[in-house]
Amino acid sequence: MNQPLWSLKSQRALVTGGTKGIGEAIVRQFLDLGASVFIVARNSDLLQQQLTRYRQEGHTVDGMAVDVSQPGTASQVIEKAESVWGGLDILVNNAGTNIRKPTAEYSPSEYNHILNTNLRSAYELTQAAYPLLKASGSGKVIFISSVSGLAHTSSGSLYGMTKAALLQLTRNLAVEWAPDGIRVNAVAPWYIKTPLATPVLTNPEKLSGILKRTPMNRIGEPEEVASVVSFLSMPASGYVTGQTISVDGGLMAWAY
Ligand code: NAP
Repeated sequence: MNQPLWSLKSQRALVTGGTKGIGEAIVRQFLDLGASVFIVARNSDLLQQQLTRYRQEGHTVDGMAVDVSQPGTASQVIEKAESVWGGLDILVNNAGTNIRKPTAEYSPSEYNHILNTNLRSAYELTQAAYPLLKASGSGKVIFISSVSGLAHTSSGSLYGMTKAALLQLTRNLAVEWAPDGIRVNAVAPWYIKTPLATPVLTNPEKLSGILKRTPMNRIGEPEEVASVVSFLSMPASGYVTGQTISVDGGLMAWAY
Protein backbone atom coordinates (compact mmCIF):
# COMPACT_ATOMS: atom_id res chain seq x y z
CA MET A 1 0.00 0.00 0.00
CA ASN A 2 1.80 3.16 -1.15
CA GLN A 3 -0.88 5.77 -0.24
CA PRO A 4 -1.01 7.27 3.28
CA LEU A 5 -3.85 5.54 5.17
CA TRP A 6 -5.44 8.65 6.71
CA SER A 7 -5.30 11.17 3.88
CA LEU A 8 -7.28 12.30 0.84
CA LYS A 9 -4.29 14.02 -0.76
CA SER A 10 -4.56 14.13 -4.58
CA GLN A 11 -8.06 12.68 -4.50
CA ARG A 12 -10.67 14.21 -6.82
CA ALA A 13 -14.13 14.22 -5.24
CA LEU A 14 -17.65 15.19 -6.28
CA VAL A 15 -20.16 16.00 -3.51
CA THR A 16 -23.82 16.61 -4.34
CA GLY A 17 -25.64 18.96 -1.97
CA GLY A 18 -22.26 20.27 -0.81
CA THR A 19 -23.37 23.79 0.17
CA LYS A 20 -25.38 23.12 3.35
CA GLY A 21 -25.70 20.75 6.29
CA ILE A 22 -24.02 17.36 5.99
CA GLY A 23 -22.73 18.02 2.46
CA GLU A 24 -21.03 21.26 3.51
CA ALA A 25 -19.31 19.45 6.39
CA ILE A 26 -18.14 16.72 3.99
CA VAL A 27 -16.70 19.32 1.59
CA ARG A 28 -14.88 21.07 4.45
CA GLN A 29 -13.32 17.84 5.74
CA PHE A 30 -12.38 16.62 2.25
CA LEU A 31 -10.61 19.94 1.53
CA ASP A 32 -8.81 19.90 4.88
CA LEU A 33 -7.68 16.32 4.17
CA GLY A 34 -6.15 17.37 0.85
CA ALA A 35 -8.81 16.51 -1.75
CA SER A 36 -9.97 18.63 -4.67
CA VAL A 37 -13.75 18.94 -4.50
CA PHE A 38 -16.41 19.54 -7.15
CA ILE A 39 -19.58 20.82 -5.42
CA VAL A 40 -23.10 20.45 -6.83
CA ALA A 41 -26.19 22.31 -5.55
CA ARG A 42 -29.09 24.33 -7.01
CA ASN A 43 -28.53 27.77 -5.46
CA SER A 44 -25.90 29.40 -7.66
CA ASP A 45 -25.25 32.42 -5.40
CA LEU A 46 -24.52 30.32 -2.34
CA LEU A 47 -22.36 27.95 -4.38
CA GLN A 48 -20.29 30.80 -5.84
CA GLN A 49 -19.86 32.42 -2.39
CA GLN A 50 -18.55 29.17 -0.97
CA LEU A 51 -16.25 28.47 -3.94
CA THR A 52 -14.76 31.96 -3.55
CA ARG A 53 -14.18 31.45 0.18
CA TYR A 54 -12.54 28.04 -0.27
CA ARG A 55 -10.29 29.37 -3.05
CA GLN A 56 -9.24 32.30 -0.83
CA GLU A 57 -8.24 29.71 1.76
CA GLY A 58 -6.03 28.05 -0.88
CA HIS A 59 -8.20 25.01 -1.61
CA THR A 60 -8.85 23.46 -5.01
CA VAL A 61 -12.59 23.60 -5.66
CA ASP A 62 -15.02 23.91 -8.51
CA GLY A 63 -18.73 23.34 -8.86
CA MET A 64 -21.94 23.46 -10.80
CA ALA A 65 -25.36 24.89 -9.95
CA VAL A 66 -27.85 22.29 -11.11
CA ASP A 67 -30.97 20.49 -9.94
CA VAL A 68 -29.92 16.83 -9.84
CA SER A 69 -33.56 15.71 -9.73
CA GLN A 70 -34.00 16.78 -13.36
CA PRO A 71 -33.55 14.09 -16.01
CA GLY A 72 -30.36 14.30 -18.05
CA THR A 73 -28.34 16.28 -15.50
CA ALA A 74 -26.13 13.37 -14.39
CA SER A 75 -24.12 13.16 -17.59
CA GLN A 76 -23.72 16.98 -17.67
CA VAL A 77 -22.41 17.02 -14.09
CA ILE A 78 -19.95 14.19 -14.65
CA GLU A 79 -18.74 15.69 -17.96
CA LYS A 80 -18.12 19.03 -16.23
CA ALA A 81 -16.30 17.41 -13.32
CA GLU A 82 -14.15 15.42 -15.75
CA SER A 83 -13.35 18.53 -17.77
CA VAL A 84 -12.22 20.29 -14.58
CA TRP A 85 -10.35 17.51 -12.72
CA GLY A 86 -9.53 15.17 -15.61
CA GLY A 87 -11.06 12.26 -13.68
CA LEU A 88 -12.82 11.29 -10.47
CA ASP A 89 -11.84 9.20 -7.44
CA ILE A 90 -14.72 9.81 -4.98
CA LEU A 91 -18.45 10.33 -5.54
CA VAL A 92 -20.61 11.31 -2.56
CA ASN A 93 -24.34 11.14 -3.31
CA ASN A 94 -25.61 13.39 -0.54
CA ALA A 95 -28.33 15.65 -2.04
CA GLY A 96 -31.68 14.69 -0.58
CA THR A 97 -35.07 16.01 0.36
CA ASN A 98 -38.22 15.05 2.22
CA ILE A 99 -41.92 15.78 2.53
CA ARG A 100 -43.41 14.26 5.70
CA LYS A 101 -47.05 13.21 5.45
CA PRO A 102 -49.27 10.14 5.75
CA THR A 103 -48.83 7.76 2.82
CA ALA A 104 -52.46 8.14 1.68
CA GLU A 105 -51.88 11.88 1.14
CA TYR A 106 -48.86 11.88 -1.20
CA SER A 107 -49.57 13.24 -4.70
CA PRO A 108 -47.93 11.79 -7.83
CA SER A 109 -45.81 14.94 -8.18
CA GLU A 110 -44.57 14.63 -4.58
CA TYR A 111 -43.74 10.97 -5.27
CA ASN A 112 -41.72 11.99 -8.35
CA HIS A 113 -39.97 14.83 -6.52
CA ILE A 114 -38.77 12.65 -3.63
CA LEU A 115 -37.88 9.63 -5.79
CA ASN A 116 -36.05 11.75 -8.39
CA THR A 117 -34.08 13.77 -5.83
CA ASN A 118 -33.12 11.01 -3.41
CA LEU A 119 -32.85 7.93 -5.59
CA ARG A 120 -32.83 8.48 -9.33
CA SER A 121 -30.26 11.29 -9.18
CA ALA A 122 -27.90 9.13 -7.11
CA TYR A 123 -28.40 6.14 -9.40
CA GLU A 124 -27.83 8.13 -12.58
CA LEU A 125 -24.82 10.06 -11.26
CA THR A 126 -23.19 6.86 -10.07
CA GLN A 127 -23.87 5.19 -13.41
CA ALA A 128 -22.43 8.18 -15.30
CA ALA A 129 -19.39 8.30 -13.01
CA TYR A 130 -18.55 4.60 -13.43
CA PRO A 131 -16.01 4.97 -16.28
CA LEU A 132 -14.11 7.64 -14.32
CA LEU A 133 -14.22 5.71 -11.04
CA LYS A 134 -12.97 2.59 -12.83
CA ALA A 135 -10.18 4.57 -14.52
CA SER A 136 -9.19 5.92 -11.07
CA GLY A 137 -8.13 2.40 -10.05
CA SER A 138 -9.42 3.03 -6.49
CA GLY A 139 -12.85 4.60 -6.96
CA LYS A 140 -15.12 5.18 -3.97
CA VAL A 141 -18.87 5.78 -3.90
CA ILE A 142 -20.63 6.84 -0.70
CA PHE A 143 -24.40 7.11 -0.50
CA ILE A 144 -25.91 9.26 2.25
CA SER A 145 -28.89 7.16 3.22
CA SER A 146 -30.67 7.38 6.59
CA VAL A 147 -31.82 5.24 9.50
CA SER A 148 -35.18 5.79 7.78
CA GLY A 149 -33.96 3.21 5.25
CA LEU A 150 -33.54 0.67 8.07
CA ALA A 151 -36.65 1.19 10.20
CA HIS A 152 -39.81 3.28 10.53
CA THR A 153 -38.78 6.71 11.85
CA SER A 154 -41.95 8.78 11.29
CA SER A 155 -40.26 10.46 8.32
CA GLY A 156 -42.72 9.32 5.66
CA SER A 157 -42.83 6.19 3.53
CA LEU A 158 -41.42 7.75 0.34
CA TYR A 159 -38.31 9.01 2.12
CA GLY A 160 -37.85 5.60 3.77
CA MET A 161 -38.28 3.79 0.44
CA THR A 162 -35.62 5.88 -1.29
CA LYS A 163 -33.17 5.54 1.58
CA ALA A 164 -33.66 1.76 1.75
CA ALA A 165 -33.17 1.47 -2.01
CA LEU A 166 -29.81 3.25 -1.70
CA LEU A 167 -28.69 0.59 0.80
CA GLN A 168 -29.47 -2.25 -1.62
CA LEU A 169 -27.82 -0.30 -4.44
CA THR A 170 -24.75 -0.07 -2.18
CA ARG A 171 -24.60 -3.86 -1.80
CA ASN A 172 -25.22 -4.56 -5.49
CA LEU A 173 -22.60 -2.13 -6.73
CA ALA A 174 -20.04 -3.16 -4.10
CA VAL A 175 -20.09 -6.70 -5.52
CA GLU A 176 -20.50 -5.76 -9.18
CA TRP A 177 -17.72 -3.16 -9.18
CA ALA A 178 -15.22 -4.78 -6.78
CA PRO A 179 -13.26 -6.20 -9.76
CA ASP A 180 -12.88 -2.60 -10.99
CA GLY A 181 -11.31 -1.53 -7.69
CA ILE A 182 -14.37 0.54 -6.75
CA ARG A 183 -15.60 0.43 -3.13
CA VAL A 184 -19.23 1.34 -2.43
CA ASN A 185 -20.55 2.12 1.05
CA ALA A 186 -23.43 3.96 2.71
CA VAL A 187 -23.90 6.10 5.80
CA ALA A 188 -27.22 6.13 7.66
CA PRO A 189 -27.62 9.15 9.94
CA TRP A 190 -30.33 9.75 12.54
CA TYR A 191 -31.23 13.39 13.32
CA ILE A 192 -28.40 15.78 12.46
CA LYS A 193 -28.42 19.59 12.97
CA THR A 194 -28.98 20.82 9.40
CA PRO A 195 -31.45 23.06 7.52
CA LEU A 196 -33.34 19.93 6.35
CA ALA A 197 -33.94 18.79 9.95
CA THR A 198 -34.65 22.27 11.38
CA PRO A 199 -38.47 22.11 11.08
CA VAL A 200 -38.47 18.95 13.21
CA LEU A 201 -35.73 19.95 15.65
CA THR A 202 -37.32 23.34 16.42
CA ASN A 203 -40.59 21.66 17.42
CA PRO A 204 -40.15 21.12 21.20
CA GLU A 205 -42.50 18.12 21.32
CA LYS A 206 -40.80 16.37 18.42
CA LEU A 207 -37.32 17.17 19.73
CA SER A 208 -38.16 15.75 23.14
CA GLY A 209 -39.54 12.56 21.54
CA ILE A 210 -36.39 12.15 19.43
CA LEU A 211 -34.05 12.66 22.40
CA LYS A 212 -35.99 10.13 24.51
CA ARG A 213 -35.51 7.49 21.78
CA THR A 214 -31.78 8.26 21.30
CA PRO A 215 -29.47 6.44 23.75
CA MET A 216 -26.87 9.24 23.56
CA ASN A 217 -29.65 11.77 24.30
CA ARG A 218 -28.47 14.37 21.81
CA ILE A 219 -28.75 15.37 18.14
CA GLY A 220 -25.81 14.63 15.84
CA GLU A 221 -23.50 17.21 14.28
CA PRO A 222 -22.87 17.36 10.50
CA GLU A 223 -19.14 16.87 11.17
CA GLU A 224 -19.89 13.52 12.84
CA VAL A 225 -21.37 12.25 9.57
CA ALA A 226 -18.64 13.84 7.47
CA SER A 227 -15.88 12.08 9.44
CA VAL A 228 -17.40 8.67 8.65
CA VAL A 229 -17.67 9.65 4.97
CA SER A 230 -14.04 10.76 5.06
CA PHE A 231 -12.98 7.42 6.57
CA LEU A 232 -14.91 5.51 3.89
CA SER A 233 -13.13 7.58 1.22
CA MET A 234 -9.60 6.90 2.48
CA PRO A 235 -7.15 4.03 2.07
CA ALA A 236 -7.73 3.44 5.83
CA SER A 237 -11.03 1.74 4.90
CA GLY A 238 -9.49 -0.07 1.90
CA TYR A 239 -11.05 -3.49 2.72
CA VAL A 240 -14.52 -2.09 3.54
CA THR A 241 -17.19 -2.30 0.85
CA GLY A 242 -20.93 -2.96 0.64
CA GLN A 243 -21.47 -1.68 4.19
CA THR A 244 -23.89 0.70 5.87
CA ILE A 245 -22.60 2.61 8.90
CA SER A 246 -25.28 4.17 11.08
CA VAL A 247 -24.37 7.51 12.66
CA ASP A 248 -27.24 7.56 15.10
CA GLY A 249 -26.23 7.99 18.75
CA GLY A 250 -27.20 4.34 19.32
CA LEU A 251 -30.75 4.52 17.94
CA MET A 252 -30.62 1.33 15.85
CA ALA A 253 -29.07 -0.66 18.71
CA TRP A 254 -32.00 0.05 21.03
CA ALA A 255 -35.12 -2.07 20.55
CA TYR A 256 -36.36 -1.53 24.11
P1 NAP B 1 -29.93 20.10 3.74
O1 NAP B 1 -29.48 20.80 4.95
O2 NAP B 1 -31.29 20.38 3.21
O3 NAP B 1 -28.88 20.32 2.56
C1 NAP B 1 -29.16 19.72 1.32
C2 NAP B 1 -28.11 20.07 0.31
O4 NAP B 1 -28.48 19.47 -0.95
C3 NAP B 1 -28.02 21.54 0.03
O5 NAP B 1 -26.67 21.87 -0.35
C4 NAP B 1 -28.96 21.75 -1.17
O6 NAP B 1 -28.59 22.92 -1.86
C5 NAP B 1 -28.69 20.45 -1.95
N1 NAP B 1 -29.80 19.97 -2.76
C6 NAP B 1 -31.05 19.66 -2.35
N2 NAP B 1 -31.81 19.27 -3.39
C7 NAP B 1 -31.01 19.33 -4.48
C8 NAP B 1 -31.21 19.08 -5.85
N3 NAP B 1 -32.39 18.66 -6.31
N4 NAP B 1 -30.18 19.26 -6.73
C9 NAP B 1 -28.99 19.69 -6.27
N5 NAP B 1 -28.73 19.93 -4.98
C10 NAP B 1 -29.73 19.77 -4.10
O7 NAP B 1 -29.86 18.53 3.96
P2 NAP B 1 -29.01 17.65 5.02
O8 NAP B 1 -29.78 17.50 6.25
O9 NAP B 1 -27.60 18.11 5.06
O10 NAP B 1 -29.12 16.25 4.29
C11 NAP B 1 -28.11 15.73 3.44
C12 NAP B 1 -28.42 14.26 3.20
O11 NAP B 1 -28.42 13.58 4.46
C13 NAP B 1 -29.79 14.01 2.58
O12 NAP B 1 -29.69 12.97 1.64
C14 NAP B 1 -30.64 13.60 3.76
O13 NAP B 1 -31.71 12.77 3.37
C15 NAP B 1 -29.62 12.85 4.60
N6 NAP B 1 -29.99 12.76 6.00
C16 NAP B 1 -30.14 13.88 6.77
C17 NAP B 1 -30.50 13.75 8.11
C18 NAP B 1 -30.66 14.95 9.02
O14 NAP B 1 -31.18 14.79 10.13
N7 NAP B 1 -30.26 16.13 8.61
C19 NAP B 1 -30.71 12.48 8.66
C20 NAP B 1 -30.58 11.37 7.85
C21 NAP B 1 -30.20 11.52 6.52
P3 NAP B 1 -29.67 23.75 -2.75
O15 NAP B 1 -30.87 23.95 -1.89
O16 NAP B 1 -28.97 25.00 -3.16
O17 NAP B 1 -29.93 22.85 -3.93
